[in-house]
Amino acid sequence: ATPTALLVGTGRGAQMGVLIKGPEVLESTRKVDTVVLDKTGTVTTGKMTLTDVVTDEGTDRAELLRLAGAVEDSSEHPIAQAIAKGATQEVGELPTLSDFTNVEGKGVRGTVDGRTVVVGRESLLAETQMALSPAVAAAKAEAEEQGKTVVAIGWDGIARGILVVADTVKPTSAEAVAEMKALGLTPVLLTGDNEAVARQIAAEVGIDEVIAEVLPSEKVDVVSRLQREGRTVAMVGDGVNDAPALAQADLGLAMGTGTDVAIEASDITLVRGDLRSAVDAIRLSRKTLSTIK
Ligand code: ADP
Ligand code: MG
Repeated sequence: ATPTALLVGTGRGAQMGVLIKGPEVLESTRKVDTVVLDKTGTVTTGKMTLTDVVTDEGTDRAELLRLAGAVEDSSEHPIAQAIAKGATQEVGELPTLSDFTNVEGKGVRGTVDGRTVVVGRESLLAETQMALSPAVAAAKAEAEEQGKTVVAIGWDGIARGILVVADTVKPTSAEAVAEMKALGLTPVLLTGDNEAVARQIAAEVGIDEVIAEVLPSEKVDVVSRLQREGRTVAMVGDGVNDAPALAQADLGLAMGTGTDVAIEASDITLVRGDLRSAVDAIRLSRKTLSTIK
């Protein structure tokens, strides 16, 4: 490819809100056959809201919200922010947190009013022998079937209930996925969230391949594995979590609405944070390279 044509291509990209780091990026884009999509913040808006709280018999709802809100207030995670905000709206000022641990991809722990509180995946609670009651577990399964994200909460060694948060699919994601398929690309949904939620979101946008319950540190390994299987991988992500996978991918695309770390690790920035821009980028490179030949 001539440098001039590639430069023209990157210039065209900039006009469309597709910022390409260097002309050579267009060449690697052409060979892509698989597009790995991070779920939260990429396919979905990542703006979660607290929609439901289910407590165990004997647990006070306001008490649960005060403790959950206090711990989550110290976490940057979209789930945490939704819980802290929802809790504040319902119970007012949150108690002070005296100790805080973030368990990557699993949840949070903290001490509030002398209580050791754990909020996160059911498996995180299970690490300290806390198990949800059958009634709460049933409510959890039902919410997950509806594609909602459910986190469990327990304190002082006893599981107490669940908090349900819902994220929404971006209005343009389904169209972008359909366009990817039309271009012969295979979209894959990658998430730390559970299988049921991941399947539901995937179904909503038309993705058939789902890799769920992946720890943040393992996202990069998923990309490497797909590459070893002979696939040429583009990865689209937004979070700090996604940065190593974005760097490992043959082509890394960061949502412009995402974190700086993700943007730095990528080859292309999608200014509008719209998944259709990923399709524009791939189409642009194909067009640029075919005019050169
Ligand atoms: P994603 O890959 O979708 O961006 P993460 O890897 O960040 O998700 O998180 C995976 C899962 O870990 C979440 O779906 C949630 O169950 C749990 N989790 C992570 N952080 C928190 C938190 N601060 N509070 C509660 N649960 C959390
Ligand atoms: Mg994310």
